[in-house]
Amino acid sequence: MISRLNELGFRINTNMGFFSDDREKRELTLVKLPGIITGAIDELSGYVKKRMSERNTLNYEIDGLVIKVNELDVRENLGYTSHHPRWAVAFKFDAPTAQTRLIDISIQVGRNGRVTPVGILEPVKIAGSTVSRATLHNQEYIEMLELGIGDTVSISKRGDIIPAVEEVIEKNTENPTVFKYPTTCPFCSSSLEKDGGHHFCKNRDCPERIKRGIIYFAGKDQMDIDTLGEKTIAFLFDKGFIKAVPDLYTFDYNQLLKEEGFKEKKIANIKESLENSKQKPFKKVLTSLGFDGLGTSAASDLIKNGFNSINKIIETASHNNSEEFSRIEGFGEITAQLLIQHFTDSRNLKLIEELKKIGLIFEEKIDTQEEINPASLPFTNQTWVITGSFEQFNPRSKAAEEIEKRGGKVAGSVSSKTTHLLAGNSPGSKLDKAKELNISIIDENEFLQMLKQ
Ligand SMILES: [Zn+2]
Repeated sequence: MISRLNELGFRINTNMGFFSDDREKRELTLVKLPGIITGAIDELSGYVKKRMSERNTLNYEIDGLVIKVNELDVRENLGYTSHHPRWAVAFKFDAPTAQTRLIDISIQVGRNGRVTPVGILEPVKIAGSTVSRATLHNQEYIEMLELGIGDTVSISKRGDIIPAVEEVIEKNTENPTVFKYPTTCPFCSSSLEKDGGHHFCKNRDCPERIKRGIIYFAGKDQMDIDTLGEKTIAFLFDKGFIKAVPDLYTFDYNQLLKEEGFKEKKIANIKESLENSKQKPFKKVLTSLGFDGLGTSAASDLIKNGFNSINKIIETASHNNSEEFSRIEGFGEITAQLLIQHFTDSRNLKLIEELKKIGLIFEEKIDTQEEINPASLPFTNQTWVITGSFEQFNPRSKAAEEIEKRGGKVAGSVSSKTTHLLAGNSPGSKLDKAKELNISIIDENEFLQMLKQ
């Protein structure tokens, strides 16, 4: 597949090896992908060491290697556990570390009031990039490290993304202390409260919380108003132009012509992306509100379970009966209570009202098909296994979708619970097993017929 992509002109990363005791296969691979390293199976571990030693010479970051079985039919036979394929394994390198000095600890407050300490570091190079900030998690973590400002610390890039302070290498000699959180919020001076492992600013009028909430609302994974990035929103907020989320839509951006860095074109772009954001589906609007416990998956689950409009959610919350939410699969009592709290809160309800008036979408139409009682769907109570390759269903997940749409389940391996085997070309051992268990075997044409019916 890779050599075919190469022939077609796609960019291929040739930093890979092919290991087999079959010399012919090795030679064939070399012909198809000149430049890749090949060798016998026992040369694989040497290859891993070689790649590890070359890690810092690459112009991109890596955190390990993936070793995969090359033969597709062997992969098919090995199959999957519930969370990973049996034919691929990741070889993770140790996280790269570096030493530096902790200059300061900055206290950040998130939109839900959670306090996060961030270590400000003397800039240091680590795995090809310069790091000057690292997360410190919470007060307990700081105490565990016995960390104070001025200490020399070792930091690591875990998963090669977020740097973390791992340990204190040397306490500073002048003033060896352990950093203590302030007792009040640095942004609004209200007392910080401890809840679980974290401290919180519980003041809903805290300017930092409100600012973070607006930034979150416009963020890429929420309303995706890309012309209003963190810096622009911080500017508008600090200037007092925008005080709450609805102001994003009601503020007269022409006022910004007087401000440095804002030209007509930029302002027109902001207006346009705000207008576009009014088409964002209900699910996005729901998560953009930034309510605790109401992330992407919770929002999808709500909608899928019939709470497909804000009015239904608010109405249900008003009953103050947590069971109406906790019956949703994956929702616990805590999520249910949070939903009741959020959607009976007068401030939140006022916010929702204002956003409704602005024209955001607060309802999702559910396909009539999904409204049908699942017990009456044609594949209900059937468990399918799919094997082999197909003309019309490539990848096979397309066939799985059709089965699930019709109320059937799709399983990874043939068992006594399997009712149907959908068998394509080169079906492998699953077909034998299905025959053994007398399971009805459906080929692609029969399957297409069934779907039509
Ligand atoms: Zn505060």
